[in-house]
Amino acid sequence: MLNENVLNIKESLIRKISNESRKYENVLNLTIGEPDLPTPIGITQACIEYMQKNKINYSPTGGIVELKEEIATYYNEKYGSIYNENNVLVCSGSTEALSSTLRTIIREGDEILIPLPAYPGYEPLVQMSLGKSIFIDTTKKEFKITIEDIEKNITKKTKAIILNYPNNPTGVCLNKLELKKIVEYCLKKGIYIISDEIYEALSFSENNSISSYFNSNKIILIGGFSKSHSMTGYRLGYLLGEKKLIEQIKKVSQFTITSPNIIAQWGGVKALKEYKNREEMAIEYNKRFEFLKEKLEKLKIKVIKSQGGIYLYFKNPLKNKKSYDFVLEFLQEEHVALVPGEAFKNEGYIRVSLVKSICELEIFVEKIKSFLKK
Ligand code: PLP
Repeated sequence: MLNENVLNIKESLIRKISNESRKYENVLNLTIGEPDLPTPIGITQACIEYMQKNKINYSPTGGIVELKEEIATYYNEKYGSIYNENNVLVCSGSTEALSSTLRTIIREGDEILIPLPAYPGYEPLVQMSLGKSIFIDTTKKEFKITIEDIEKNITKKTKAIILNYPNNPTGVCLNKLELKKIVEYCLKKGIYIISDEIYEALSFSENNSISSYFNSNKIILIGGFSKSHSMTGYRLGYLLGEKKLIEQIKKVSQFTITSPNIIAQWGGVKALKEYKNREEMAIEYNKRFEFLKEKLEKLKIKVIKSQGGIYLYFKNPLKNKKSYDFVLEFLQEEHVALVPGEAFKNEGYIRVSLVKSICELEIFVEKIKSFLKK
């Protein structure tokens, strides 16, 4: 018998929709969670130059010093934090950073608070660590977690909360005061805060990061290059935290991946030296968001105001249809693939990835118009 914790992991809904979309030709795929904009050319060149040395070694476990220093500097300059290279662990994508963190902190039966809607990657990681996910719906609170909600769900077994702002799928962010209150409350209660800030560089407005509150061994920041620098395939992410905690998480990372990819890491150094500011990219996604928001609102569709990231989240306008059925029928009839809110444990909403040009998003608008008329 295989491990039932693995057997119990359900197939992701995003994958289901993706598989279904393969049945049709010329599908407009708006499910994808990776930026369409190219990786900045200097990053590619830096990787090629490194490869031409023709000796691709293991990297030190936890990453090369040059990259760890650049990552610490990025947050220190932007948020006034006081990280140094000992506070950084470079990982194989932020997925591995999350996995190694959860496997380090969770003891069997520990509860992890996950505000909903949530990125579908969290629950399986908690499950495989023998923890229990406690979901907190934030729909009625403008998609923001509040102290009252945490208070209602906290128990003696609560070990951590996972924050994700700018959020996937809503794009919602906490403002400075909201974040401060959550941080202070969680620290008072002694629970870990795992802040997944993978979309931080793609914020449209005010930037907020947990790095501003780095003064505790209970705060872990998760970041990466997948979204900010269109580097999904490089598998380069990281986490930041207190040195002693990093040393423990590093053991888990070491015996899982040995070390992160050395070529990608030199790309990461270049990314933070020469392409630190991602404003242009954020402006492009904001432009697409505003364009689509206006069009959908003309169709009387409620759109959630995004403050960052690469998605638009809207309310399912058809009351008699579950979002999953809406998405499936829309795909079958109009050949456009979206992600239903159910994928984020949030029935009643639908996510559009803004990873296509305005022209293609315009096609989507026409298709939804025709779908809603039927
Ligand atoms: N966290 C969130 C909120 C995401 O949306 C994603 C990817 O879509 C990840 C983590 C994983 O990213 P990575 O490519 O760094 O593993």
